[in-house]
Amino acid sequence: MDILDLIENVKKEYVNKTRRSQELYDELKKYTPYGVHSNWRIWDPYPMFMSRARGSRIWDVDGNEYVDFCMAFGALVVGHSHPVLINEVSSFIANGTIYGFETEYSVKLAKVLLDRFGMDMVRFSNTGGEATELAVRLARAYTGRKYILKFEGHYHGSRDTLMVGLKPIPARAGHPKEPRSVPASMGLPEDIYKTVLVAQWNDEESVEKVFSKYGDEIAGIILEPIAMNMGFIPPKKGFLDFLRKISDEYGSVLIFDEVKTSGKFYGGAEEYFGVKPDIKIVSKAIGGGFPFSAVLGKKDIMELIGPNKVAHGGTFNSNPLSVYAAYITLTKILTRDAMTRASNLSEETAKAGIDIMNDNKIPAYISYAGTSGGIYLTREAVELRNWRDFVKYVNLDAMYVYLTSMVSRGLIPQCIAPDEQWTVSVQHTKEDVDRVVEGMKHVVSLLKSSGVGEVFKIEEAF
Ligand code: PMP
Repeated sequence: MDILDLIENVKKEYVNKTRRSQELYDELKKYTPYGVHSNWRIWDPYPMFMSRARGSRIWDVDGNEYVDFCMAFGALVVGHSHPVLINEVSSFIANGTIYGFETEYSVKLAKVLLDRFGMDMVRFSNTGGEATELAVRLARAYTGRKYILKFEGHYHGSRDTLMVGLKPIPARAGHPKEPRSVPASMGLPEDIYKTVLVAQWNDEESVEKVFSKYGDEIAGIILEPIAMNMGFIPPKKGFLDFLRKISDEYGSVLIFDEVKTSGKFYGGAEEYFGVKPDIKIVSKAIGGGFPFSAVLGKKDIMELIGPNKVAHGGTFNSNPLSVYAAYITLTKILTRDAMTRASNLSEETAKAGIDIMNDNKIPAYISYAGTSGGIYLTREAVELRNWRDFVKYVNLDAMYVYLTSMVSRGLIPQCIAPDEQWTVSVQHTKEDVDRVVEGMKHVVSLLKSSGVGEVFKIEEAF
């Protein structure tokens, strides 16, 4: 059976198992484009609809149980319905949900965040996108400059500010060393997306080229310390130090978007890589599943926020429920010990994956750090360094088979998207890892039977 037949087979299996999801999807898509409220949830032939979740498990509307390693795209390192969080939040909610005023937990949480992630001052928001937007505004206000430099394939939220160079097709994206500022959405005015300059991840020369052209006009560099929206691509050794150095040289603000990494390592990316940015954004996992984000920064930058200075407002900012949930999450659940245990399970998963792929000669890029990692089936055995590598080498057909077939076996291995990664929560167990490893073996045998692994070389595009 070739890979296209295999795709049809696994799709059929999926459809047979998820009839109720299909019904709901068919109905919802009459009212909601693509039947989802976030484009990232679109899946072929349709996404699953869920009904409940607990611990490491989630159940769909057909009653199927899954071991969940997506964990709401990394928002749940606490795992589903953590008993401590449920108890605390349930009693809290009896006293209201939102006041339009700060509470004592605004103070407590600010201290916990600054202590744990190491900055001078903090402002709370709700989503990652809101927070990256504030960080960019601060960088521009602080420097009086217009341009922001980002990396191709990095994602910083669905706002106009940074929807540039997200997943461009290479034919439109320019030379890899000098990527174009390709808008990642319709409806973005050129005046806006042209303010975002794009460089290649892990490529110093590419960054230097942008700085040599626009240097004194670059307000800041924003990046994911580990690129986690094009698989799981860490910075090569010394790359973050290089970015720190070039920011200092040109007086630009260095911004770490830690929406994901703040839940992967106890102290976030700064602790893991030993490089200090000027601003960092934390979100997702630290809210324990409640909408929460924060911008942390150096005092002289953060003090620009205020009336007639840098605007930052929001009805739901610092809403007591999210703030309290984040406080409990960070102080009682995502402890160093608990995160170390989850990280060990993640490492075990990755190592098992590496063995299985090697034993079966299936080319794959497998990468992991902290509580996350991912398996990316490739056309040849290479290390992925940036978005161009991802496009060139990742075998999307094989990834489709891998992800969809795992789902049919009751496993959500790394969300249902080829560019995502797994999240191991503090509630996952060795048994969950063993289940996913068994699943991998099965899928690998399917892939082998369809000829995946017969290595072939792709010509260099440039
Ligand atoms: N930054 C990064 C690194 C992200 O991964 C995401 C979301 N996946 C965002 C920002 C946007 O966060 P939100 O969806 O909460 O706006």
